[in-house]
Amino acid sequence: MLTGKTALVTGSTSGIGLGIAKALAAQGANIVLNGFGDVDGPKAEVAALGVQVAYHGADMSKPAEIEDMIKFAAAQFGQLDILVNNAGIQHVAKIEAFPVDKWDAILAINLSSAFHATRLALPAMQASNDGKGWGRIINVASVHGLVGSAGKSAYVAAKHGIVGLTKVTALENATTGITCNAICPGWVLTPLVQKQVDARAAAEGISIDAATQELLGEKEPSKQFTTPEELGALAVFLCSPAGNNVRGVAWNMDGGWTAQ
Ligand code: NAD
Repeated sequence: MLTGKTALVTGSTSGIGLGIAKALAAQGANIVLNGFGDVDGPKAEVAALGVQVAYHGADMSKPAEIEDMIKFAAAQFGQLDILVNNAGIQHVAKIEAFPVDKWDAILAINLSSAFHATRLALPAMQASNDGKGWGRIINVASVHGLVGSAGKSAYVAAKHGIVGLTKVTALENATTGITCNAICPGWVLTPLVQKQVDARAAAEGISIDAATQELLGEKEPSKQFTTPEELGALAVFLCSPAGNNVRGVAWNMDGGWTAQ
């Protein structure tokens, strides 16, 4: 379904980003990966799906590096059709104790990076499809784009911000073939969440299993993690022809978290 398209997924060396990259690759899209840590493993996982894969190591807190990555992505396979703004970090502390450098980093990586990547990717998307435009922009927000949790001021502010950015991006391109939507996961067991489980286990002197059950039980009626594969399937739907008129939504996949 996506054969011949190129997708750039930021923060895709791990977790949700890698899951979305693999789901898009399984539909035939060529993939540009980004993120820190091991690169060869994720590249091999994507290449095994029979598509072309490239990697750019832009630090998503640095606008000049994002600009370089967008140019690189377009040059790799001809045109950037799908942009998934996924890179993100977390830090948990009360507002009065929240380190200012962590606030700045979370706003830069979880919110401003999506603005920069979007503003740089849009002109080519708008010019494509004989000037009628085609593109898919998916912002990985969070349930924290819809509701708050104590201790997560920067994250909740950034995620509410990216839901707002999603709506404006969708509206400004509403008469074109470019859609923009947000995905709002509840708990997904990635390194980002494992750190929070480990911190809870250490703080309460309980096992990792018990801390995992507490974490899920507190917020998710389903008491289940959402998986990167499930989120990848939602991204594929948003990229499909059937997703053509889904514009500016914040679609939660959260085990009932925000239904309460
Ligand atoms: P993760 O830690 O597994 O992956 C984060 C990715 O972002 C990694 O590839 C990492 O290298 C990359 N990254 C971090 N800082 C970067 C930077 N400055 N520049 C470039 N890349 C950078 O985390 P995840 O859980 O897969 O999170 C992915 C996204 O999903 C984030 O935006 C996160 O807020 C969101 N999210 C996660 C959950 C969850 O429960 N895990 C829930 C809701 C939303």
